[in-house]
Amino acid sequence: VVIVGAGFAGLAVAKGLRLSPFDVLVVDRNNYHLFTPLLYQVASALLDPSEIAHPIRAVLRRSPNVDVLRAEVESVDVEAHTVRLAGGSILTYDHLVLAAGSVNNYFGAQGWAEATASLKFLSDALRLRNLVLERFEAAAATPDPVRRQSLLSFVIVGGGPTGVEYAGALSELIHGVLKKDYERLDFTRARITLIEAAGTILSPYDAELREAALRTLAARGVGVILQSRLAEILPDRVRLDDGREFAAGTVIWTAGVAAAPLAAQVVEKPGSHGRVPVSANLTLPSHPEVHVIGDMAEAPSPSGPLPMLAPVAIQQGQYLATRLRSLVATAHDPGPFLYRDRGIMATIGRNQAVVQTRHLKLSGLPGWLFWLAVHLSFLIDFRSRAVVLLNWAWEYLFYDRPVRQIVTAGSEPGPASPL
Ligand SMILES: Cc1cc2nc3c(=O)[nH]c(=O)nc-3n(C[C@H](O)[C@H](O)[C@H](O)COP(=O)(O)OP(=O)(O)OC[C@H]3O[C@@H](n4cnc5c(N)ncnc54)[C@H](O)[C@@H]3O)c2cc1C
Repeated sequence: VVIVGAGFAGLAVAKGLRLSPFDVLVVDRNNYHLFTPLLYQVASALLDPSEIAHPIRAVLRRSPNVDVLRAEVESVDVEAHTVRLAGGSILTYDHLVLAAGSVNNYFGAQGWAEATASLKFLSDALRLRNLVLERFEAAAATPDPVRRQSLLSFVIVGGGPTGVEYAGALSELIHGVLKKDYERLDFTRARITLIEAAGTILSPYDAELREAALRTLAARGVGVILQSRLAEILPDRVRLDDGREFAAGTVIWTAGVAAAPLAAQVVEKPGSHGRVPVSANLTLPSHPEVHVIGDMAEAPSPSGPLPMLAPVAIQQGQYLATRLRSLVATAHDPGPFLYRDRGIMATIGRNQAVVQTRHLKLSGLPGWLFWLAVHLSFLIDFRSRAVVLLNWAWEYLFYDRPVRQIVTAGSEPGPASPL
C-alpha cells in the first residue's frame, strides 16, 4: 500500500494498518504531520511549530510493517500502478491511497499568491509571524505617517473559520502584547479588516452563532466588510470590487482552497474545489485499487458532498484501513463510508468561541472552554498537550506571547572568523 500524504487522512490509514499483513509506505514531502487547527496560533506568535507539528517517523515508530519516505510525489499513473517521485524514482503499488490534501485557491487571480501572505502550511505561518513583527518594527522606525498607516493596516481576505480565528488572534497579539512593546506607536491607528464575499462570515453556522462571532470581532476592533470581493492589491493598499480603497500593508489570504494538484492527474472531470469524485467506498470508480480520501476527495453523503474538514479526513482514513484489512482477512466488503458529524467550532480569541453540534450550540466562555478541551485532546502527544496548555495559561494570565523572535532560516550573519 502506498499512501501519499501523512496528513489527517493518510496518517489515519497508516495507523489503522499497523501490524496488518500489508507492506505500507507513507510518502510525504515533509517529515512532520501538521495539526492545522492551531496553525493560526503559530502565525500569531502564541505557539512554536514543534507544538503542532510532529515527526511522522515518531508517530509511526511502533509499526514494523509501515515505512516512511520523505519525497515529493510528482505524478501518478493509475494504469501502470506507479507513482513517480521528484528526482525520477518510481514506486509501484497494489493499493494506492491519495491523501495529499489541498492548496490555496486564488480563483485564477494573477500574482495574488505572491502579493499575499497565507495560512495553509507551516512555512506560511512562520512567514506571516515574521511579517507582522517586521511591520511593527518598520512602523516604529518610519517618520512617514502614510507609510506607517499602511504598515499598521492588515487585511484578511475570507470570513471562514481560518480568517475569523486569525483575525481574533491578530487583534489580541496587537492590542494585548505588541502594544506593550512599542510604547511610542499610536495603536489607535492599527487596523484589521476582514473581507468576505458572501453576506455572512462562518457560513455553515446558525445565524445566532454568526451574530455572536460578528459581535466579538467588532469588540476586538476587527472591521468586517461583507458582500465585497478583493479586486486589486496595490503596494500599500487594496481595492474592492465596489471601488472602495483603503490602506493595507499586509494582505492575508484565507479565502479558499482546492484539492492538491495530484487530483487533476487521476480524474478528467474534477468535482467542486477541484476534488476527485469518489464512490461511496472512497475508490475511483474506474480503479478500485486507487483510494482518494481527505481534502482531495469529493465523497458522497445523503446531504451532498462531504466538507473539507479534519474529522472527515480522519474518519475516512480509519474506514479505509478497516476496509483493506477486512478485504484481505475475510474477503468481506464492509460497505460504504458513513460520516459521523460531531459538529464544528471556531474560536475568536480569549473567552470567545462558537460551537455547533447536533444537540448543542455554545458561544462566549462556555464555547471557548469546550473548544480548548477538544483541541487539546486531539493534539498528538502528551508533551504537546502539556506545552500548549502551559502556553495558553501563560498568555491568558500575563497577556504575553514569548514567540516573538524575527528569525528566517539561513539569515543569521556568519561568524566573524573561521574557528
Ligand atoms: C489553517 C487551517 C485551519 C484549519 N482548521 C480546521 C479546524 O479547525 N477543523 C477542521 O476540521 N479542519 C480544519 N482545517 C481543514 C483541515 O486541515 C483539512 O480538512 C485536513 O487537513 C485534510 O486532511 P488531509 O489528510 O486530506 O490533508 P492534509 O492534512 O493537508 O495532509 C496532506 C499531506 O500531504 C502531503 N503532500 C501534499 N502533496 C504532496 C506531494 N505531492 N508529495 C508528497 N506529499 C504531499 C502534505 O505535506 C501533507 O502532509 C484547517 C485547515 C487549515 C489550512
